[in-house]
Amino acid sequence: MSSKEHRFENMERLQRLSLHLKAQPVASGEFVSSSAEATIAVTNPATGEEIARVPDGTAADVDLAATAALAAYPGWRDTPVKARVEILFRFKSLCEANLAELTALVVKEHGKNSGEAEAEVLKGLETVAFATGLPDLLAGRILEVARGVWCHEVRRPVGVVASIVPFNFPAMVPLWTLPIAIGCGNCFIIKPSEKVPLTLMRMAELLQEAGLPPGVLSVVHGSQNVAKALAENPKISAVSFVGSSRVADIIDKTARSAGKRALCMGGAKNHLIAMPDCDEDMTISDIMNSAFGSAGQRCMAASILIVVGKGRKTLLEKLVAKAASLKAGQAPGEIGPIIDPPAVQRISGYVANCESQGGKILLDGRSWQSKSPGFWFGPTVLLHQSSKEPAMQDEIFGPVLSVLEVDTFDEAVAIENANPYGNAAAIYTMSGQTALETEKLAAGMIGVNIGVPVPREPFSFGGILRSKFGDSSDITGEGGINFWTQNIKITSKWQPPKKRDVISSSFIS
Ligand code: NAD
Repeated sequence: MSSKEHRFENMERLQRLSLHLKAQPVASGEFVSSSAEATIAVTNPATGEEIARVPDGTAADVDLAATAALAAYPGWRDTPVKARVEILFRFKSLCEANLAELTALVVKEHGKNSGEAEAEVLKGLETVAFATGLPDLLAGRILEVARGVWCHEVRRPVGVVASIVPFNFPAMVPLWTLPIAIGCGNCFIIKPSEKVPLTLMRMAELLQEAGLPPGVLSVVHGSQNVAKALAENPKISAVSFVGSSRVADIIDKTARSAGKRALCMGGAKNHLIAMPDCDEDMTISDIMNSAFGSAGQRCMAASILIVVGKGRKTLLEKLVAKAASLKAGQAPGEIGPIIDPPAVQRISGYVANCESQGGKILLDGRSWQSKSPGFWFGPTVLLHQSSKEPAMQDEIFGPVLSVLEVDTFDEAVAIENANPYGNAAAIYTMSGQTALETEKLAAGMIGVNIGVPVPREPFSFGGILRSKFGDSSDITGEGGINFWTQNIKITSKWQPPKKRDVISSSFIS
């Protein structure tokens, strides 16, 4: 098999990646077994077959990892940052050398197409590259603030920290936090989604190979019991979470009431506004990528299109025709499956509800549900009567684009502003003046003629409103450094020597 094929057939490796509870949890750095009796099936959503089982971990597992992390912390904290990032440089090279395998794991456990899977691994490695710059980025300010009095700042790690991640980016979202937190000198415990634990386990193996000392990284498998224990365990000082708003809210409250720092990224309902002067073809192809890429299972996916100027038939007609031509599959350009049967049911329910409320189904992806094997739902376009309908309000998290036509830009902005989420929003226009008005949109990440406005490193990623809970505004870039460090201010006073020595009399003016 060529490494470019991105296929992953090694079942023995899959089982090994899933059966171990933790990477490097104990002083010896060995994998250990979970105390849990129960295991959870990991399924390939394209085929419905079980590909692995992971332990449904316990609070005792979390405590074992936290104890190992606490023991490793003083040594790792005191390792100079330049030596810490040497390991990240090696890790990045190892990920690049194993790109085909990491890509294949993402395809197998998540279902997205191989182009999208490779792109997410590479995007994750951008954050690793950013973290290799920490020796420069952590250098604090220093200034003589009065005669002989100096203030300087030192960025100290927080201690033992934890990260809880969702299913939809098995490689990229763990890499939002892991390299920055570790590079800043923290010992790090991560809980992958029980639906996609395999890619992260392979990356943990590569970190071990890169030379990460035992106890600096632990991976604890499990579901909500492990997440709750990470938020509660007193040995852990900071928790980041990425997932739905419902759970983000729970983890944020639990962690903060236990006295921890928390940063919890939630769900999204991203609005795109197509102005009458937009470049129609460019807008359509961008909307297609945003709404249907990764089968809409992205927190940056467009889920609402507001068309300004009623009766603009060609834009919608062309969009629906293009969406109807998309094919199910996992090759680049194809639409992959949905993560599991409950998700398919949820998505289907919103389409049925739109129909019952008088909306029009311009393209119905429910026909893909009969595809077998696997869990499929095709691109869907709904034309709504009102922004109050459930499909216009809730996060559906599937390949469903809800369309509403309005007369003015101000109406579009009012609809976007009234939605409780605030992750991303975008506008399509050829007018610089209209583009400037994007600041009226209530979202943390805004696009102009770009439907997935993910800020690339060194810019930080983060939403607002119900898309983000907690103590920091952003999870990557400078926001990540702020979250994973404490800024210590040191003020020193040095008396000038009483008598200056005469060094030399050889100076000639
Ligand atoms: P989820 O909230 O169901 O699960 C996220 C994590 O929380 C998983 O590790 C899961 O095991 C754990 N979990 C689930 N229920 C829990 C509970 N009751 N208590 C404690 N922990 C629990 O999210 P998901 O379905 O895995 O991922 C999709 C969601 O993630 C979408 O809402 C998407 O918008 C969001 N997301 C947000 C961002 C962002 O940056 N804002 C990025 C990616 C995904």
